[in-house]
Amino acid sequence: MRGVLDGSDPRAVAEAATALRAGLLVALPTETVYGLGANALDARAVARIFEAKGRPHFDPLIVHVPDADAVATLALVDEARAHFARLTAAFWPGPLTLVLPRRPVLPDLVTSGLPSVAVRVPRHPVTRAVLRAAGVPVAAPSANPFGYVSPTTAAHVADQLGDAVDLILDGGPCAIGLESTIVSLLDDRPTLLRPGGIPRADLEAVIGPMAEGVRVLERPLAPGQLARHYATRTPLRLVTPDALTPAPERALLVLAGPPPAGSEGYGRILALAPGGDLTATAAALFATLRTLDAAGHAGVDVLPCPLEGLGVAIMDRVRRAAIDG
Ligand code: AMP
Ligand code: MG
Repeated sequence: MRGVLDGSDPRAVAEAATALRAGLLVALPTETVYGLGANALDARAVARIFEAKGRPHFDPLIVHVPDADAVATLALVDEARAHFARLTAAFWPGPLTLVLPRRPVLPDLVTSGLPSVAVRVPRHPVTRAVLRAAGVPVAAPSANPFGYVSPTTAAHVADQLGDAVDLILDGGPCAIGLESTIVSLLDDRPTLLRPGGIPRADLEAVIGPMAEGVRVLERPLAPGQLARHYATRTPLRLVTPDALTPAPERALLVLAGPPPAGSEGYGRILALAPGGDLTATAAALFATLRTLDAAGHAGVDVLPCPLEGLGVAIMDRVRRAAIDG
């Protein structure tokens, strides 16, 4: 690895853009999580993403572009024009990924052979500057080893991917901390494929009711593997306030609100949003899971947050990280 560069330095942005054009892998800060980027038009560079992540299967990647106009070279927006225009005007740049019919210019590896492509304009200023300077679309999944919690700091990326990545741009901790919301515009009615950084209600306020879709995800190696997609090594368990199992070797993670009565016996108690603000929970979630995972607890009990707004995406990720799936 060439190093971790300060993303606020214009020379670092220029170096990252050059590296991407040369087919190298660059870890980039976004408002959702850190991405492992490669030139989306370069099949060999994209293949290195899968190698670096240790992914046992190829799955479709999100392609990042500097603005909505840049989508037209990669995808057909015509069929989805009305929804596309409304959604991009309201939410780009931001944590919204749109699935559209693809153009042939993209290597099959980017879309996993699908006739569609997922595209996003990220909001983080460092990565937007890199995208503009690179002049190529950038395919980027989360910059973590396959199956582990997504990275929300440059240090997370360096710790886990190390020399598998050529360059890391440090843009500070991710502001949102959850992956993007994915909406398919392939059919007349938009379909929600993955809950994420933009709550469903915010999207529906702009385009009306969405259908509920089935996610395209990497094929599991064995039954149950997908359930542990964002897994920690320390077992996580979802609990209710009346079924706590306090013990000195166990930790309690409270996703919203203060720790409840009866939680005193845990070795460690973390409340991510004592006042109930779920944006705080989202921003701290993945880093907290890593901290707890590194602390050697026998297990972590997690008290759920309400399934409202960002809570839907938060609970989606927590369930995937939990042993009881
Ligand atoms: P991420 O985990 O944030 O890198 O997002 C990758 C995910 O985007 C994949 O696992 C799919 O769920 C979704 N995705 C990417 N491309 C497509 C596509 N063409 N159609 C449907 N979903 C897609
Ligand atoms: Mg990921």
